Amino acid sequence: MPPDTISETPKFVAPVFDGAAWPNACVARGAAPTRYDELKSTSMNVAALALGRVRAMSGTVSGVPYCDQHKDCVDLSVRQDRKLELKWSSLRMMRRYLALNRSREAMRTHR
Ligand SMILES: [Zn+2]
Repeated sequence: MPPDTISETPKFVAPVFDGAAWPNACVARGAAPTRYDELKSTSMNVAALALGRVRAMSGTVSGVPYCDQHKDCVDLSVRQDRKLELKWSSLRMMRRYLALNRSREAMRTHR
C-alpha cells in the first residue's frame, strides 16, 4: 500500500507503547499540531465475564497531536490480552509513530 494511503475510518493498527512519543505533527496528515487530544477506551474482560464477574479494562492515551482541521483520526481500543491498540487513518503517520517508538515495549492495562 502506498504510504500516503488515508482510510475513511481508522484501520491501520499499531500498539500503544509504554512512554510513547508522538510525532510533532497532526496524526491525520502531518500538519503542525494546534492541540493535543486524549483518548479513552474501556472494554469488558471476557474471561472475567465467563466467571460471573464484570471487570472493565480501560486505557487512556494523552497528547495526541491534531491540527485545526482534523479530529478522531486515531482510535484507541483495549484487546482481550489487555494490550492497548491504536487504529490510524494515515499509514504514513502511523509509520512515523512506529519509527519514533521503535525501542519501546507495548503497553498493557493494569487489570
Ligand atoms: Zn490535521
